[in-house]
Amino acid sequence: MPSTRALRIDRERKEIELHDGARVAYDHLALTTGARVRKLDCKGASHDAVHYLRDLPDARRLVERTRTARRAVVVGGGYIGLEAAASLRQKGLDVTVVEAEARVLARVASPSISVIMQRAHTRHGVSLALGRKVVAIHNVADGVAVELDDGAWLSCDLVVVGIGVLPNTELAAGCGLEVASGIVVDACVRTSDPSIVAAGDCAAFVPYWSPAGRAACRIESVQNANDMARTAAASILGRSEHYRAVPWFWSDQCDLKLQMAGVSTGFNDFAVRGSVDEGKFSLFYFRDGRLLLWTASTGHKTTCSHASCSQPVRGQA
Ligand SMILES: Cc1cc2nc3c(=O)[nH]c(=O)nc-3n(C[C@H](O)[C@H](O)[C@H](O)COP(=O)(O)OP(=O)(O)OC[C@H]3O[C@@H](n4cnc5c(N)ncnc54)[C@H](O)[C@@H]3O)c2cc1C
Repeated sequence: MPSTRALRIDRERKEIELHDGARVAYDHLALTTGARVRKLDCKGASHDAVHYLRDLPDARRLVERTRTARRAVVVGGGYIGLEAAASLRQKGLDVTVVEAEARVLARVASPSISVIMQRAHTRHGVSLALGRKVVAIHNVADGVAVELDDGAWLSCDLVVVGIGVLPNTELAAGCGLEVASGIVVDACVRTSDPSIVAAGDCAAFVPYWSPAGRAACRIESVQNANDMARTAAASILGRSEHYRAVPWFWSDQCDLKLQMAGVSTGFNDFAVRGSVDEGKFSLFYFRDGRLLLWTASTGHKTTCSHASCSQPVRGQA
């Protein structure tokens, strides 16, 4: 039912109310409502030079803007921000990434990976403003200026914001399901109502690898959405399978193809294979001798098409 929004869940009658007033009955209900972008909340944030990246219309608007833009500020040094920065740089724009944390990918990657990615971006001409927050966006004669919390003004004609997402939990909360950082599900991805499962970006769960007592968390990846959906389907069919998939993620940035499987926190030992200098390496992270995370880069794929980046440059380990 495309272009149809579910507005309410009536758990007593086991019905969904749609935006046009129609009602759909269910025996089992799967909530896979995903997430929406977190918006920048500062003066000037609604300027039309400010872009987000979640769906196809967002991407088309951004591509259109890059036809004339020369200087971009990317707010957020997570996967979305860094991939956007690498693409914009490849298109020949001057790019500055503003990140509130002291390192990029702080939420999702180990410090060593952050350093490797920071060096890759710097090597390709991306400027990094780490540990800085955006406080305002000003309308100036030739575009906008992004004001940072240290008083700096970054002039640009395009701002791309990648500061995370908010789970779409309103349907669940509206019918009294347990919601914390997302729609709370158990090991079989069932919500607090046994006839309703939730999966993907909107669902919060305590992963099997978490020490006991840890709070539920959400994982935002295609792998997690697909694998949780399988567990949800099993639950609907009456098979109590626990969700135990190993999370994995990939990212193409600059000339590096980064792949990781496992969890990036809680390690107390690590090993390196290959050459970080050449961008061809594997990093293994262990907790008490057990492998937690494998991260690999398959090397410098291509050189950047931007004139000043056309010579392959060796990284520094
Ligand atoms: C730019 C970008 C790049 C990404 N790159 C990667 C990557 O390289 N690798 C990776 O693993 N992940 C990546 N991700 C994350 C990945 O896209 C998400 O984790 C994944 O799409 C989550 O799937 P989902 O089905 O849970 O949610 P979604 O894909 O967000 O789907 C949810 C759907 O529910 C619909 N919906 C919400 N509320 C309602 C309602 N009330 N009624 C009807 N419909 C509703 C929404 O319109 C949406 O279509 C990326 C995300 C973005 C934005």
